[in-house]
Amino acid sequence: MRRVTQYCHLRTCPFCGSSELVNKGAINFPQPLTFVDTPVSFAFEPQLWRCRGCLSGFVQDALAEKEALEMYAANSGKRWAYEEPFQLHRDPRVVSGIRTHLSSGGKVLDIGCNTGMFLDLCSELGCHTHGVELSHQARRLCRDKGHACWPDLDSIPPGMKFDVLTLFDLIEHVFEPVPFLQRCRGLLSEKGKVLILTGDINCPMARLFQRSWWYLRYADHVRFPSPRFFSQLPGYRLKEWARVYVFRKLARGTDRYRDLLKRALRRNYHGYPPLGPDHMLVILEAVS
Ligand SMILES: [Zn+2]
Repeated sequence: MRRVTQYCHLRTCPFCGSSELVNKGAINFPQPLTFVDTPVSFAFEPQLWRCRGCLSGFVQDALAEKEALEMYAANSGKRWAYEEPFQLHRDPRVVSGIRTHLSSGGKVLDIGCNTGMFLDLCSELGCHTHGVELSHQARRLCRDKGHACWPDLDSIPPGMKFDVLTLFDLIEHVFEPVPFLQRCRGLLSEKGKVLILTGDINCPMARLFQRSWWYLRYADHVRFPSPRFFSQLPGYRLKEWARVYVFRKLARGTDRYRDLLKRALRRNYHGYPPLGPDHMLVILEAVS
């Protein structure tokens, strides 16, 4: 068990810098709690805070980023692993929304690529595939499949540009999203795009469950951007965004309602499986 004692307290919104913040209360974490696959306990309780300026959310008094990076590097990659190909694992709306931006010969960089499940699809479509992955184990598996894979953005050869950057289930883990997205901007070719899949803190399920929403019950989820934040981000144009399900199985009604009923009967329902789409697919285009 790792006892977390170092915290990061923010006085302004990590997305827009506004000081108009609202404390929505301590996050209702499950016990025992893990950070990816490391068991952890907090010395005091992180809370959900919302920003009135950009309508984003974030975890206040989250653990320090340095500690988080150590645990990501040591993780096995199993939490994000799945058997079926990416295109069968994800909501068909996500797959079709992404595929229109992938073209044969294009250069793709998947940040947080795990073992390269999405890059396998890109490879089938004739793209040049590259990934960034903190986990040593996952990175080795990704390279074994023939994808270029680096441990961090600093390791990418200087001057290399990409047509598409993908951030799937990633931005919610990034402590400083604005500098991170500006670094991503520097990696894009002219008219390059960033495709982002993340939880939607403004969806009806998040609004209903607030600090108990299932998506907040992961110790490694710390940032929850809004479309308004993306629409105001320098260097980018918000091309489109849509509410989607995170997985294909959730988009199929029957399994979803069966699981939901079981959890409700156990009084263990925190919005998963969701009654409606609770993630968003965001497409940003580079502008000068
Ligand atoms: Zn804000």
